[in-house]
Amino acid sequence: MSSEQQSSDVPNNSTNNDATDEENTVTFAELGIDGRVLAALSDVGYEKPSPIQAATIPLLLAGNDVVGVAQTGTGKTAAFAVPALSRMAELADLNGPTRNTQVLVLAPTRELALQVAEAFSSYTKHMEDVTVLPVYGGSPYGPQLNGLRRGAQVVVGTPGRVIDHINKGSLDLSDLQYVVLDEADEMLRMGFAEEVDKILEATPENKQVVLFSATMPGSIRRISKQYLRNPQEVTVKSSTSTGKNIRQRYAQVMGPHKLDAMTRILESEEHDGVITFVRTKMATEDLADKLKARGFTAAAINGDIPQQQRERTVENLRGGKIDILVATDVAARGLDVERISHVINYDIPHDTESYVHRIGRTGRAGRTGDAILFMTPREKYLLRAIEKATRQPVELMQLPSVDIVNDKRLDKFAQRITATRESEDLSVFRNLVEKYVEDNDVTAVEAAAALAHMAQGGRPLLMEELPTPPAKQVRMSKGAKDGFGSRGPTRALTEGNATYRIAVGRRQRVMPGSIVGALANEGGFTATEIGGIDIRSDHSLVELPADLSKDQWRALSRTRIGGELIQLELDSGRKPRREGEGGGGGGGGYKGKSGGFRKDGPRKTGGFRKDHGAGAGSRKPRTGRNFEDRSN
Ligand code: ADP
Ligand code: MG
Repeated sequence: MSSEQQSSDVPNNSTNNDATDEENTVTFAELGIDGRVLAALSDVGYEKPSPIQAATIPLLLAGNDVVGVAQTGTGKTAAFAVPALSRMAELADLNGPTRNTQVLVLAPTRELALQVAEAFSSYTKHMEDVTVLPVYGGSPYGPQLNGLRRGAQVVVGTPGRVIDHINKGSLDLSDLQYVVLDEADEMLRMGFAEEVDKILEATPENKQVVLFSATMPGSIRRISKQYLRNPQEVTVKSSTSTGKNIRQRYAQVMGPHKLDAMTRILESEEHDGVITFVRTKMATEDLADKLKARGFTAAAINGDIPQQQRERTVENLRGGKIDILVATDVAARGLDVERISHVINYDIPHDTESYVHRIGRTGRAGRTGDAILFMTPREKYLLRAIEKATRQPVELMQLPSVDIVNDKRLDKFAQRITATRESEDLSVFRNLVEKYVEDNDVTAVEAAAALAHMAQGGRPLLMEELPTPPAKQVRMSKGAKDGFGSRGPTRALTEGNATYRIAVGRRQRVMPGSIVGALANEGGFTATEIGGIDIRSDHSLVELPADLSKDQWRALSRTRIGGELIQLELDSGRKPRREGEGGGGGGGGYKGKSGGFRKDGPRKTGGFRKDHGAGAGSRKPRTGRNFEDRSN
């Protein structure tokens, strides 16, 4: 346990380890790792230690406290987990098995805690009866308490929840041998300094402390001075971790064209999973919505999204249910998803360090990756700094032209035809087309073209040079009758109904009939359950039963009209639009400012309650919550 002088060739304190992969020829076996752990490493397919592992594992096995500084993706988890487990295995040989908690790892977020716990478990495969328990906030205490009661030799937790368990007496640290502060800089940045202090104070005197961090700010030095005994400092320089396996490119894009640029890249470049970084939490949601509206499977993660949901999103990304994750720096920190082929820096990072963290999300586990940076001409000065930090050039990238994108679209469409021909039974349709061609005296090409148009669902197949319609066109169609289909406007809600918003409108050329059709089919509504429909320029408002079942939500969340996801949501009255305001015939039921139906109209009520007659209770919709909330 005591940190006696190293006999190894690693100098004490401040080891600047510049080793690259080529220079590092040590094997895991040579590092002195316990045989059971070695076997597990070979099972998970690690061939040789990474530089940070080669430098820290012997120090830790010898009982030193260690400060390790290396970028994300350099293998820090195994660097502390392997020696911890080796020592545990050897202690068990000496003293017999125990279920006491011997190793405590603190990690800043639930995701990271889970990742570390998973890695730990994978290294315990050949050890007897080792439990690794993740504990983190935002999830029920029950299972964690049970796990702790049964005994977990390794506990990996977020600081807040670990404190809770210490205070409750459910986490007994009296036999602790080894404490790890993982991603220490991030933990402090997230404001956990006090918790970390408290936890370290609650641990026994005689233990090993390990601190891993991507950077070394002063606050970490303080912790290191205060809690580590004669710590050995190992720094692995950043050159190798960003690696030759990530190609870096930049494109000059001004703000308003970023979405278009991103779409073109996604459509024309082979990709698997993609993480795209934006600056703000709001921008994550916004961009994810826009990408979904363009037919991509995307989701946002940011610090405001509940952890459980974030974790589910990451799982969906890992499993391929979604392809694009739109994230803030903090939310994506340390994420390890192998299938990330591209990192797109939609907004430029704050500094080179965040850039390096961002692009480290790709090129995982020996794969290659692509990093693309959107920048305005004014931001170009950053390039040099990035090239210096990554010791690698950042090439200028030409955005794919409309022609390239369209070629891809045509290719894809043709591929779909081929795939359908090869995998589906077409006999019914073959007969149908044959008969159609004969009856109508047209060529098969003519019929196929019409069918292809139908298959497109009304959405244009080819991209146009200027995809946004001029604002005038939208304005033009704003007349009294316009915007309401044959079903007419709803001026007050029928009791039990609520107003929903769908993300298709005049711009997508939807008709009331197609809305009713889609909702009836996908949501299983009868036509009478669908109330008024108000088609606006880029969205529509629809009256539907307020109490949609989970299944209906699920079905409707996947529903498309004219190829666009409708993104059904309760209308929260955002985006006040003048066009819906006032005007006897127009969207008179909508209050310009709040955008919602005015449920009780002591003023100007005339227009509000006259339809849906028979006193359908329009003054107090059952869904009041939604509307009352914003009755100003
Ligand atoms: P860090 O904590 O430094 O960000 P991780 O510990 O998460 O890095 O490791 C990054 C990835 O590299 C993980 O997928 C991990 O399984 C893998 N890895 C770690 N060590 C090795 C190794 N010696 N050989 C091959 N892959 C490794
Ligand atoms: Mg890590």
